[in-house]
Amino acid sequence: MQTSEAFSGLACVDCGTVHDADVPGRCPDCGGFLDAQYDYDAVADDWASFEGDGRGMWAFEALLPFAATNAVSAAEGETPLVDAPRLAEELGVGRVVVKDEGRNPTGTFLDRGMSLALTAASRHAESDDVEPLALATPGNAGQSAAAYAGRVGLRSYSFVPSRSAFSNKAMINVHGGEMRVVGGRYPQAKDAVDEQLATEYYSLQEFTTPYRHEGAKTLAFELVADLDGEIPDAVVVPASTGELVVGLEKGFRELVEVGLVDDVPPLYAVQPENCAPIVAAAEHGDDSIEPWEVPDTIVGELEVPDPEGGALALSALKSCGGDTVAVSDDDILASAVAAAQHEAIEVGVAGGAAPAGAWSLAEEGRFSEDDTVVLVNTESGLKTPDVLRSHLMGQGI
Ligand SMILES: [Zn+2]
Repeated sequence: MQTSEAFSGLACVDCGTVHDADVPGRCPDCGGFLDAQYDYDAVADDWASFEGDGRGMWAFEALLPFAATNAVSAAEGETPLVDAPRLAEELGVGRVVVKDEGRNPTGTFLDRGMSLALTAASRHAESDDVEPLALATPGNAGQSAAAYAGRVGLRSYSFVPSRSAFSNKAMINVHGGEMRVVGGRYPQAKDAVDEQLATEYYSLQEFTTPYRHEGAKTLAFELVADLDGEIPDAVVVPASTGELVVGLEKGFRELVEVGLVDDVPPLYAVQPENCAPIVAAAEHGDDSIEPWEVPDTIVGELEVPDPEGGALALSALKSCGGDTVAVSDDDILASAVAAAQHEAIEVGVAGGAAPAGAWSLAEEGRFSEDDTVVLVNTESGLKTPDVLRSHLMGQGI
């Protein structure tokens, strides 16, 4: 398969074996996750002028596995960085900016990874039978997968829990994807993929495809470009499967490798307090995740009790000097509503975890008064306006 110049293979995070990009999923030797590797010396010069150029995240093709000319792309990425001055004042920091990933083609950061994953799938489809593509998802990733699979005419199957948002279920079908609604929660939807698909399939599951966290890393590239080559003092991010935390840390680390920045900023992973397996593991000093026994949060997109990338996220947080924070559903909803009312930004329910987490961190005195704090809004407010509205109604509004 044709790959970009600097790409040097997919390395297994467990056994270290390096495979080429013909491998579609996990390590054939041990079943470990695969992670794209690059020859950083080969790209350093290409990055002398570091800025987006209208091609979305593919402007950064020098550090992606495939060239932009082969991309399955709907101009994902290059999302705006929106100043939130009232929030900055309330948190007592110099500047708060919201990286608004709701402005992606299907309204989430997941489009970055799906663009890469479907680019790989469409190349694999030239020599192998890859259909159907399949994944389990709380909702957003299914919508994104259906959209990008449709763009290259490949059949996709999304397994979603019954409590998945209506907008996700509707849009999976609108994009032409097939869908199975599974009773229960996300883990039941994951089990159902193998139980119900009576055929071989090509997985788009996070960390089975090597490309979802890989796409997420472009968010770090854009943040540094948006901040004129500087790194922020803190990046606060909602955490579910771990792919965004892992991707962001990798992206910043690669910018250090190519000599564009000196350090990886501290990342803060935020989870709802009634489904916070990454937070609990970090607080116990563990290297691996204990599945959350009774997940119960209204933030369905973050209700991931046994995150595939949990251990990798813990290691990423440790290496950048970051931390975790758990917040209540009420605080998440109130923060999403406040962003809409005070900053004009339509933050989805899951995205509300970022400002809620930032509030909590500010109260703990974790920020300085001249800090630049980045909040990542992971999804559009249009995903779940009913949940935000019912939060207001619960307050008598
Ligand atoms: Zn391996």
